[in-house]
Amino acid sequence: MIKHSDKKIENAAATATVAAGDYYLAEIKAGQTFRIVDLEGNQAADTLFYCADDPTERYSAMDTIREQGNLYLTAGTVLKTNANNSMLEIVADTCGRHDTVGGACATESNTVRYDLEKRCMHACRDSWMLAIQENEEYGLDKNDIAHNINFFMNVPVTKEGGLTFEDGISAPGKYVELKALVDVIVLISNCPQLNNPCNGYNPTPIEVVVWD
Ligand SMILES: [Zn+2]
Repeated sequence: MIKHSDKKIENAAATATVAAGDYYLAEIKAGQTFRIVDLEGNQAADTLFYCADDPTERYSAMDTIREQGNLYLTAGTVLKTNANNSMLEIVADTCGRHDTVGGACATESNTVRYDLEKRCMHACRDSWMLAIQENEEYGLDKNDIAHNINFFMNVPVTKEGGLTFEDGISAPGKYVELKALVDVIVLISNCPQLNNPCNGYNPTPIEVVVWD
């Protein structure tokens, strides 16, 4: 569902540009709103969320899908934790649909999907692992890398129940905006994938904007 935001960049508390292949890790307080902007279009932002008070409570794709009765995420979606508590709400969305079924790229999946030679290529899982290693104060470890949201990524489920990675439906400047319902840790891998169309075979930067 397309829903525009009336928030103005000049009123933002913080902005950050995240290069392709880089990560974003920050705490967003309850009541704050943050926006992820697909600056150049067709980029995938592989995102994990944790409750700041207890990171073992984290975003759960299955609880979110079950509670809303829909596979895709868009404006109006309430993101649920693995304890089925509400953690964030998507309050604006100019892309229209986001995936939470396809998972994130890893060196292992790159070898299975594409070629053994792709094993050395940078993947989202590497960026997440680097983020938690470089920021020990968040108390995250390898066990916390669970299922994620692929903002801006187009992974339609076919009539037959198949899962396909398709050309993006996002475009330059499209954004998704979320309001934190509790204090949350946001961990984004701005996907470095070069082998599938989820980011147009050409990873590009995203922008994160936070409002109080
Ligand atoms: Zn990726």
